[in-house]
Amino acid sequence: MRVAVITGVGEVEIREDAQPTPGPGDIAIEVGACGICTMERRLFSGTQQIYPVAPGHEVAGRVVAVGSEVDDLPGSPRIGDAVTVDLLTRCGTCSACRRGRSALCKRPQGGALSDGTLAFGAGLAEFVVAPATSAFATGDAPMNQASMGEPLACVVHSVRLSGFRSGDRVAVFGGGYMGRLHLALTRHLGSPAVGVIDVSAQRLDEATEAGADWVATPDDLADRAGGSDIVFVTAGVAGAVEAALDLCDDGGTVVLYGAFPKDVLASVGADRIHHHELNLIGVYSQEPEDWRTAAGLIASGSLAADLDRLVTARYDLASVGDALRHATTEPVYRVLVGDAEQ
Ligand SMILES: [Zn+2]
Ligand SMILES: [Zn+2]
Repeated sequence: MRVAVITGVGEVEIREDAQPTPGPGDIAIEVGACGICTMERRLFSGTQQIYPVAPGHEVAGRVVAVGSEVDDLPGSPRIGDAVTVDLLTRCGTCSACRRGRSALCKRPQGGALSDGTLAFGAGLAEFVVAPATSAFATGDAPMNQASMGEPLACVVHSVRLSGFRSGDRVAVFGGGYMGRLHLALTRHLGSPAVGVIDVSAQRLDEATEAGADWVATPDDLADRAGGSDIVFVTAGVAGAVEAALDLCDDGGTVVLYGAFPKDVLASVGADRIHHHELNLIGVYSQEPEDWRTAAGLIASGSLAADLDRLVTARYDLASVGDALRHATTEPVYRVLVGDAEQ
């Protein structure tokens, strides 16, 4: 089968690799679509230089084989099912996993192709194999939408840990892909007011078209102070924590979702946190229950229009180089790679 391997800065090749066979508890999936996420962009642009490597962790596809120990129970993946698949491994034994916080699993991630090439998902390929427990059915949803299972699971995780309840007013820093998923999900879950903050006028226009109740640049927030119950920071920049706390009403929560540069510090008045019962939390990655919710949302079709808007472009596997160049040279929401749309 064919699999894309990034071999250097700006260099990618399609390699032939043995078609992976499922172990007893695994399933094999024919990839329908795979999203290009931040990790793939960093590897291709050279921000992170680990070569050669087979990336691609935002995968949806169809089950083509199941292992001998995959039971035919209700909920088990079956041949022909469309699924989105969690390609992160979790050890189940570290202290984080044992607390049920497997998003923070301490075991290093990564696998290998048959020739030993490092694999971070290896989903830019014709087939992937994963444990049956890691596949979540997406029903009749198109592959473009199903391939958003992993990022949507991360956003479900973020909204779950935020304590969001229907009726909460929301502000989202960052109108990129992750910001837009927060907008779509919190509107769907019953926020009466979701605002989006970004420096880009184009992104603000597109957020408005996608249903944002208000949009603003970071310099134009003075009259919004104290007007939100939950503030998601999807764009980690200096000053974002302070600006997000300013938007919070008493009892509000600031959620740090996006990665920050390691040297960014925030200055927060401790008494303000105390007297106004403010919460400041970090969220990272996703956990199996978030996948179940994300896959259910995709299968239900309730976010279909929102997810479709976020497909910037789609390439077939043979054009993976064009896809990576597109995703690393222009502002995009999601660029997808794959050969099957259904
Ligand atoms: Zn991702
Ligand atoms: Zn673990």
